[in-house]
Amino acid sequence: MDSILSLSNVSKSYGNFPVLNDIDLDIKKGEFVAILGPNGAGKTTLVKIMSTLSSPSEGSVEISGHNVADDSASVRSMIGVISHETHLYNDLTAEENLRFFGKMYGIGSDDLENRIDELLEQVELIGRADDRVSTFSRGMKQRLSIARSLIHEPQLLFLDEPYTGLDQHASLTFDKVLEELDPQDTTRVMVTHDITNTFKICSRVLILNGGRIVFDSPMSDIGSAEELKEIYLSKVSNHISV
Ligand code: ADP
Repeated sequence: MDSILSLSNVSKSYGNFPVLNDIDLDIKKGEFVAILGPNGAGKTTLVKIMSTLSSPSEGSVEISGHNVADDSASVRSMIGVISHETHLYNDLTAEENLRFFGKMYGIGSDDLENRIDELLEQVELIGRADDRVSTFSRGMKQRLSIARSLIHEPQLLFLDEPYTGLDQHASLTFDKVLEELDPQDTTRVMVTHDITNTFKICSRVLILNGGRIVFDSPMSDIGSAEELKEIYLSKVSNHISV
């Protein structure tokens, strides 16, 4: 399998405060990787570095062979990020929002219009395509935000606690959209606290604690969600987060 994401000796400090310590990580195309860990373990910092939103203090990150520090523009067109922030324009309609982001990624007009319709169908907002986002409920904004992050068909999708604050409809829609993505087309890296769901949907699990990867295993080597919970507790209980 080809590697899509490689981190070599990545460390990050805020002032004198170390947050990530010497992380080496290789993620293959098609994997669905969960990152578990207690609050303050460095999960969000790690995802920000992987997704070009923050730079490491030391070490390097490569996505599909491109060094993120030298080539962040090419890398950004390959990745998508779903977090609890929606990053939408309230004064634009649902369709206009998707068109804006699609053009930003350089998608040609015909392809873009088809893609917008397809995504609005998927997130069940096709009937509200021409309504301004300011009139949407929080759940509808969340569903549109999922469509926004997928408009350019990213090869690598980062999900930072994507279920946090989702209402039930958005959560079910999100599950459906994830299921419909072809794993070979979209490698996924998800920060989450939900061990049961992680066991169900992810192919590999990392546990981060105190800024280090303290566990890394294919999910097929773990027998049940209960076993994963036990592993998690054993790995985080003896470590103090930095
Ligand atoms: P997690 O996502 O696992 O909860 P974070 O990556 O958000 O962990 O944070 C790891 C540590 O880094 C925490 O102690 C947090 O306070 C600190 N931290 C995160 N961002 C900053 C920042 N911009 N400036 C200073 N400290 C930060």
